[in-house]
Amino acid sequence: MSGDIFIISAPSGTGKSTIIRRLLKMIPGLFFSVSYTTRQQRKNEIQGKDYCFVSQEEFTELINNNEFLEYCEVHGNTYGTSEKQVLSLIEKGFDIILDIDVQGAMKVKQKCPAAITIFMLPPSIKDLEERWQKRHSDSEQDKKIRRNNINQELQFWHFYDYLVINKYINETVEQVKAIIIANRCRKDKQETLFRTIINEEILPSL
Ligand code: 5GP
Repeated sequence: MSGDIFIISAPSGTGKSTIIRRLLKMIPGLFFSVSYTTRQQRKNEIQGKDYCFVSQEEFTELINNNEFLEYCEVHGNTYGTSEKQVLSLIEKGFDIILDIDVQGAMKVKQKCPAAITIFMLPPSIKDLEERWQKRHSDSEQDKKIRRNNINQELQFWHFYDYLVINKYINETVEQVKAIIIANRCRKDKQETLFRTIINEEILPSL
């Protein structure tokens, strides 16, 4: 039985990276899709763990080699999801989380209709503004670009399967965890195991 793709999209500063980090620690069999990006590495980011940071030339080569499940320009940089990474994990039965933007989410959903999509928002746009002010990892120019893109991103919420508001982080983590765990209990995923149990019970007594 193959695993599933979970896509989480949210405007910058909603807190999704923290939530994803927590989920990865809590849920066995859940992995993170490490994207390629041409964006500059931030101080707190680890090469190969948060992103695979590459030059524009390297990114173009990856495109030419058909390495991407999807790739997009987001806030002035290029980001792409490795097809090999995603497929090899789900083929082994693992679930994978993709932290990608709305354009990328639409592209993956087209290629992989079974992907489960989650859109996350902060409790208010004012709240988002406050989080941006506190964030020192982005330049003022970068913050401005991200702020300008928010309206466009918000247009996409209704294409998503689940909507989550990140008011209290522990609650949000529990909500996303519930989505992932409930999906693992879907009938089509459990059917083979169920049939095995039922057959073991019925056959010996026949
Ligand atoms: P950041 O630069 O803040 O890490 O990410 C900026 C945006 O790019 C976020 O919305 C994030 O979800 C998105 N992003 C990260 N990786 C990918 C990717 O592989 N593909 C796409 N389409 N978006 C990505």
